[in-house]
Amino acid sequence: MKIEADLIVERADQLLTLAPGENAKTAEDKLGLVPDGSVAVKGESIVWAGPDREIGRHIVLSAGGKRLNARGKVVTPGFVDSHTHPVFAGSRALEFELRIKGATYQQIAQAGGGIKSTVENTRTASKEDLRDLGLRRLEEMLSLGTTTVEAKSGYGLSVADEIRMLEVLRDLDRKHPVDIVSTFLGAHEIPPEYAGRKQDYVQLVIDEMIPEVASRKLASFCDVFCEEGVFSLEESRRILEKGAELGLRPKLHADELTPLGGSELAAEVGAVSADHLLFASEKGMEMMAEKGVVATLLPGTAFFLFMGRYAPARKMIEKGLAVALATDFNPGSCMTQSLPLITTIACTQMRMTPAECILGITRHAARAIGREDTLGSLEPGKQADLLLLDIPDYRHLSYHFGINHVERVFKKGREVWKRTTCGQQV
Ligand SMILES: [Zn+2]
Repeated sequence: MKIEADLIVERADQLLTLAPGENAKTAEDKLGLVPDGSVAVKGESIVWAGPDREIGRHIVLSAGGKRLNARGKVVTPGFVDSHTHPVFAGSRALEFELRIKGATYQQIAQAGGGIKSTVENTRTASKEDLRDLGLRRLEEMLSLGTTTVEAKSGYGLSVADEIRMLEVLRDLDRKHPVDIVSTFLGAHEIPPEYAGRKQDYVQLVIDEMIPEVASRKLASFCDVFCEEGVFSLEESRRILEKGAELGLRPKLHADELTPLGGSELAAEVGAVSADHLLFASEKGMEMMAEKGVVATLLPGTAFFLFMGRYAPARKMIEKGLAVALATDFNPGSCMTQSLPLITTIACTQMRMTPAECILGITRHAARAIGREDTLGSLEPGKQADLLLLDIPDYRHLSYHFGINHVERVFKKGREVWKRTTCGQQV
């Protein structure tokens, strides 16, 4: 019996299902590339994906159903940005300029820059302003192909302000087609009023923030900035264990600036992902591979901070780690919402191939936020989040960089974004 569909996107030059057969070994195999491919959607879900010549045997279009010709295009799953900080007020453009001119961290702080300035601006902004800023940022993400985003708190750093950030994220999730998966990051920095009393702040996170966030179901994950001078391994472990006890799965900003051992900790606490990892040790990477912790790399941050060093992506892939790529979108260290741009940086600076990059912003990114059952590939039963890219070959997503190739975005089967050209809709 044929399955009914209400949308068919047909005859794409390249359909990337990201759902290959069992024997797929290389990243290119894992794209599940179908030449002249079609996808059928019913309601919010994919019902079929495969070669166009076979669709007639499986699918019948419902009365009033829509066909969309994707000839000359590439069709992919909607992109998943698995690490962002999109709720904040104020800008750090001046700090960017000062860094270019060689200013030190202290000079930047004295000039009113640094994360503390974002905390201050975010605390004093109204909820409505934070929501409006967030909506604009989500709209930019959507136009660049991001259909699901992981978003962190962490610019509030008090019980009330952290809760407020998570409430803004919940409101944004309801208001905007981009789905938001929230992460509690109370342990992002030590707030100024706790200077010299870090242990008291750690206790506040454990005793008050986490129970409040968990009981109000405001986040799926708990994250910690585990770094020298910020939160130690032991403090991070205590925070993540408390989160896990109350149902918040662990994530970790790990080994970004120093080889502290965050990747090992991520494996030990069963984190769903460890992120940054510029200084991850061999042992840490192996432990992560063994435990199935996703390595989320954020090369835009190393690029934007001109760190002159990137995470050892090739080594991670050789060790069998699932590597996800994310923007780390935030005002201080990576002010971009463009996942395609991040893939170009990953290609040129970490020598990830275009196919590995696409895996990193779809299938592996879905795993990094625990949504691999519904997102990250185009196969029957999964959410119908898909993109039409105006490129002849998937490699052009990374190769032809700095411009937007997204022509249409479908979220849960509904068209939610469409490019306009010279004032006319395509
Ligand atoms: Zn981050």
